[in-house]
Amino acid sequence: MRLKDKTALVTGAAGGIGLAIAKRYSQEGANVVLVDRAEKVEGEALAAMPGPARAMRGDVTDPAQVAEMVALCEREFGGLDICVCNAGVIRAAEFLDVTLEDLDFVMNVNVRGTFLVAQAAAKAMVRGGRGGSIITLSSMTAELAMSNQLAYGASKGAVRQMTKAMALAMAPHGVRVNALGPGSIDTDIMSTITDNPKALHTVLSRIPMTRLGRPEEVAGAAVFLASEDASYVTGQTVFVDGGRLAL
Ligand code: NAD
Repeated sequence: MRLKDKTALVTGAAGGIGLAIAKRYSQEGANVVLVDRAEKVEGEALAAMPGPARAMRGDVTDPAQVAEMVALCEREFGGLDICVCNAGVIRAAEFLDVTLEDLDFVMNVNVRGTFLVAQAAAKAMVRGGRGGSIITLSSMTAELAMSNQLAYGASKGAVRQMTKAMALAMAPHGVRVNALGPGSIDTDIMSTITDNPKALHTVLSRIPMTRLGRPEEVAGAAVFLASEDASYVTGQTVFVDGGRLAL
């Protein structure tokens, strides 16, 4: 049990990667607070946790709701040790077609939402005085430009840089801040690719391991970053991409 007696907040916990992370954290002995704007978070997602867990429907872009997410951790479990800012959205569109609405939508959830949750969690960790680990979700697209992912890549590049700034600010408080950089992971966010055999073939041909990643494979890295095994790791992005960025 690598996270025994820790309390973890996971946003986007009704989705593929968030649910896998929450489940692994629960298996590793953590109290888990699951947050998502989708109804499923209070139903089957919560029911999948093997240990103590609470769920809340909430929107990471709303400061009042974010404050309530953190308050729930403090009220129910006496504080917050781990926060995974995982909620995220995508809009795929080529540069000449992408709209301002697409850009605002993606930046709002991925950048504003990550900032709000990470800052609220960081303040709770400072209040708690026992350090902590904050994990954001960047992406391989923070490194690898794709013409049809302008908004998404910009948002994940911003998350990556924001993570480094937060790591610098939080180091004196004993709080580590790192990003995960998934490659192509088989979840709903990838459905435009996985539902299109030709697009899927193209994507797979560019992945050295020749397959999509599983949410559980991102969760393994999330356990590492949350645990004492990563006690000297901060300000990093851990790419979980089947070798894609090594090409
Ligand atoms: P997913 O669509 O399965 O899950 C995303 C979850 O976030 C959903 O349950 C959704 O309801 C929730 N969400 C969206 N907006 C929200 C909001 N405003 N407030 C609260 N919840 C909200 O996708 P996923 O693949 O599990 O993605 C998880 C994270 O991993 C995202 O940040 C995504 O950008 C990132 N990521 C995924 C991949 C991939 O290939 N799947 C690659 C790189 C990065």
